[in-house]
Amino acid sequence: MIPFHSVLPEVAQREVRYVRLVAPAPDSALSGLPADEYAYLDYYCEELNCDCRRVFLQVIAKDQPGKVFASISYGWEKESFYRKKMPWNPDDAVGTVLGELDPLNEQSEFAADLLELFRRVVLDEPYRLRLRRHYLMFKEELARGGASGKSGRDCGPQATATWIAGIRRWKMEDGI
Ligand SMILES: [Zn+2]
Repeated sequence: MIPFHSVLPEVAQREVRYVRLVAPAPDSALSGLPADEYAYLDYYCEELNCDCRRVFLQVIAKDQPGKVFASISYGWEKESFYRKKMPWNPDDAVGTVLGELDPLNEQSEFAADLLELFRRVVLDEPYRLRLRRHYLMFKEELARGGASGKSGRDCGPQATATWIAGIRRWKMEDGI
């Protein structure tokens, strides 16, 4: 998996999804989450002949860019698409289309809240379509092997933290 912003940084600057969380009501389901601005960074699989149609989302917070708050996997297609892909474990397709915490990647004590935020707020229809579009753009760009497709692209957590720190203006699409 490679971050979208390492392949198409200009598009990512405009289109990475941010949520600003101001103090949630104490009785809300999200009351455990610290007020902050959270970014859902999208990552895609770099195999050119793979048609997985999934995104891996890493959630980070503006005030603590070095920490991974949640790792979520999600698929934007219909459930039947993923059932066919995983005939040995068809029930996994349900989690894929709802969005689920990725058991192989880093989580934090807030991961469940950020998954809830993803399902309730972040994942609307325009965002679903945006992820699908990002996936296609990402694969095209890698296939083209253009400037950003060169080797030497730095995809590590430090590079991501630097990239985040470099965003001058965090776009707030949702204030809740
Ligand atoms: Zn893939």
